[in-house]
Amino acid sequence: MSNLKRKFAQIKFLRKIFEAKGNITNDHNKCIYCGLCEKVCSVNAITVSKHQKSWSIEHNICARCTHCVATCPTKTLTLQK
Ligand code: SF4
Ligand code: SF4
Repeated sequence: MSNLKRKFAQIKFLRKIFEAKGNITNDHNKCIYCGLCEKVCSVNAITVSKHQKSWSIEHNICARCTHCVATCPTKTLTLQK
C-alpha cells in the first residue's frame, strides 16, 4: 500500500471513530454568540458571528474533544448521537 493510500485509510478510520461519538449541536435559543467556543477549538471547526447572530460548525473536521461544550457559559452545546 502506498503512503498516500495508507494516509487516506487512516483518515477514513479516524473519521468513523469521530462520527461514532456523535455531533456537536447548538441550542440556538440559549446561545449568546460570545465566541468562546470558537476560541477554544484547536481545529477551528466553529465559526461565530455576534453581529450576525450566527453559529456554525464543520463536523468533518471536529475532533469531538468537547472542549467547546465544557467552555460554553450558557451550556447550549451538546455532543449528540
Ligand atoms: S460558547 Fe456557547 S454561548 Fe458562546 S457562542 Fe459558543 S455556543 Fe454560543
Ligand atoms: S468538540 Fe472540540 S474539535 Fe469539535 S468543535 Fe468542539 S472544541 Fe472543536
